[in-house]
Amino acid sequence: MTVQLEDVTVHFGRTCALEGLNLTVAAGETVALLGPSGSGKSTALKAVAGFVRPSRGRIRIAGVDVTDVPPAKRGIGVVVQQYALFPHLRVADNVAFGLRAARRPKAEVTRRVAEMLDMVGMSTYARRFPRELSGGQQQRVAIARALAIRPPVLLLDDPLAALDAQLRADMLDELQKLRREVPDVAIVYVTHDQAEALALADRIAVMRAARLVDIAPSADLYAAPPSAFTASFLGGAN
Ligand code: ADP
Repeated sequence: MTVQLEDVTVHFGRTCALEGLNLTVAAGETVALLGPSGSGKSTALKAVAGFVRPSRGRIRIAGVDVTDVPPAKRGIGVVVQQYALFPHLRVADNVAFGLRAARRPKAEVTRRVAEMLDMVGMSTYARRFPRELSGGQQQRVAIARALAIRPPVLLLDDPLAALDAQLRADMLDELQKLRREVPDVAIVYVTHDQAEALALADRIAVMRAARLVDIAPSADLYAAPPSAFTASFLGGAN
């Protein structure tokens, strides 16, 4: 499903965290948001998720204005640090949550949960509670939970940051697989890791100080950075 941000502006008190963002992510497309810390990447993602309310602008999913729709009713998969696991539910029940909410048949829920836990290498932790897991393990469960419902829109906020290199490579493979399995999924991927952005994204959007500075197909952005800022950011120590 297509995601559209139209002139989306977000303030936290006096801080303008996002200024007039216009961005369309087509069905089947992955757009990575890259940029320095504090440039508004997470805020953009949270606005689409519905965790923060824009002071101006509209958000549409599949053409429907969802600006005033609560997060749980937007039908999207979200992995952000703030959207933690349900602490009172076991790992398997966390992953099953969205499927049960969608009233999927019991056998399908069981199968899908097993499949997702296997994917993130957490099968042996199915009966544990989130507090019994490390940060990286919780992140893996959060990814399994988000993907379980095969969401038409997936928002990922630096989802691999807490994972070690091998697991990061595995999860990147899984995300690429998801793109093949759900060809219509629109993914917004916030990352500080250029290699991840290149591996996954069709287009890369570069943010700076609450604004979008450049957006281009990933290869083009590297071959011919459209601005001096993007050239120096991509060439930097990141
Ligand atoms: P990024 O994801 O690019 O690191 P953020 O979107 O998290 O950037 O932050 C953009 C700006 O908004 C920063 O100046 C940050 O300090 C500010 N900000 C983000 N969230 C909040 C909040 N909940 N309250 C106040 N300021 C915030």
